Amino acid sequence: MKDISCKLLVIGAGPGGYVCAIRAGQLGIDTVIVEERKPGGTCLNVGCIPSKALIHAAEEYDRVVHLASGANPLGIRTTKPELDLSQTIAWKDTVVSRLNSGVSGLLKKSKVKMVQGRARFRDGRTVEVETETGRQIIRAENVVIATGSAPVELSSLPFGGPVISSTEALSLTSVPEQLVVVGGGYIGLELGTAFAKMGTKVTVVEAQARILPQYDAELTRPVSKRLQALGIEVMTRAKAKGLAKGGSALLVESESGSEVTLAADRILVTVGRRPVTQGWGREELVLDMDGPFIRIDEKCQTSMRGIYAIGDVTGEPMLAHRAMAQGEMVAEIVAGHRRLWDKRAIPAVCFTDPEIVAVGMTPDEAQKIGSEVRIGQFPFAANGRAMTKLGEEGFVRVVARADNHLVLGIQAVGQGVSELSAAFGLAVEMGARLEDIAGTIHAHPTQGEAFQESALKSLGRELHI
Ligand code: FAD
Ligand code: NAD
Repeated sequence: MKDISCKLLVIGAGPGGYVCAIRAGQLGIDTVIVEERKPGGTCLNVGCIPSKALIHAAEEYDRVVHLASGANPLGIRTTKPELDLSQTIAWKDTVVSRLNSGVSGLLKKSKVKMVQGRARFRDGRTVEVETETGRQIIRAENVVIATGSAPVELSSLPFGGPVISSTEALSLTSVPEQLVVVGGGYIGLELGTAFAKMGTKVTVVEAQARILPQYDAELTRPVSKRLQALGIEVMTRAKAKGLAKGGSALLVESESGSEVTLAADRILVTVGRRPVTQGWGREELVLDMDGPFIRIDEKCQTSMRGIYAIGDVTGEPMLAHRAMAQGEMVAEIVAGHRRLWDKRAIPAVCFTDPEIVAVGMTPDEAQKIGSEVRIGQFPFAANGRAMTKLGEEGFVRVVARADNHLVLGIQAVGQGVSELSAAFGLAVEMGARLEDIAGTIHAHPTQGEAFQESALKSLGRELHI
């Protein structure tokens, strides 16, 4: 096989890698991308997209079940609904495969060469790829490591048999009767909620004092309330000890120290993800590390000249949109543009029920850096649009500097608030002040009005409460 020489080689075609390659191609850089599995990486194949498809299907089913129960105030009556999970999964797979083709098409359109196989460094400029048709050598002036992350395995609960990771959970073809979720973070709660809505008895075992410990308690309270309403049992300060004999139950040490046996046909372990720093020849390089992650500077450069790293392999927050933004920036740097990481905030959305959005600083974080803050919080219970959707739970909260009213952070919890993340992100990124948000006409009736009202409230000028 003839060796390939290129200006830019990207290892891994997840959101970080494929965006980097597309942008580089658009800029006329001779680019090669290597992917051992499918284009789109974790996010598209076994992460963001399939999980949101499953969450949507579960929500729709739950809605109809609720309507069929006759307990709804809308006057809608229907007969007993059924869920064919294998069909749901087949539909989810069509969404994923359309997007796989979409990413391949975009790479092609940008004239990026795609090589299928596992890449391994020989040295800082040379990578070999085991392809189906033999060994391909690629020499590159610049290399981007975008190898992503993988689920953390607990030594007491290795994956296999009834113990599954999110990847297997997204491809189950029948609804489990009893599911124990170990880890009440993003994945555990997004998927745990979805399975509960599909009829599974779900128990969440969380090591910390509360679920979603990365968010403040005020934001997670409506989520806890909904978990309870869905019949999801949450054990906090609890430790999973291992499978019970026979494998159909999990042994858990509860907060009080007593041992509890939780019957389960599946145990979903979602205790975080680890960067993929093995299996691609890191030992052939001299890369500085930052704990388990590859250390990068504000240009995503590693400690080796010409080698960049982006996405989950470089640290928290392990989010697709961070990886994409890094990828786009690195492509431009390789093209000679003057760029560096100057983002003010990376929005985070948790697709629980209700959803949570957080951009920038919370009140506590703002106070910790010494700012005197002004906070405005507006409940959806006073928002007309939320009422028309039976979505009165939750609020929007804006955090600003007390002296000049610069917005430092915006958070919300409520039905469908993920779509407000764009407005929140824009406000923080553009350095909006409370008066900018308060003075912007927000369309009526929308949940976004709660954003404007939160700013008005912080200025003591609220209108609808
Ligand atoms: P990845 O997407 O992990 O891609 C890395 C790619 O590199 C993979 O395709 C892998 O096959 C390839 N690779 C690795 N080593 C090699 C090698 N040696 N040779 C060739 N190829 C290689 N994030 C969000 O922002 N929003 C969400 O809603 C969200 N939901 C999620 C739900 C789940 C269930 C999971 C698991 C994750 C979710 N995430 C979400 C996180 C998101 O998926 C990651 O942050 C994102 O995929 C990271 O992108 P990346 O490009 O760094 O790596
Ligand atoms: P996570 O960090 O969100 O949550 C892990 C949870 O497990 C934490 O609450 C932690 O306290 C708990 N935990 C850790 N060890 C434990 C143990 N031994 N027993 C019980 N609980 C334990 O991790 P995740 O849910 O696996 O998700 C991984 C990453 O993927 C996230 O951090 C996020 O970056 C990304 N993700 C994002 C989204 C989104 O943006 N909507 C969705 C899913 C995943």
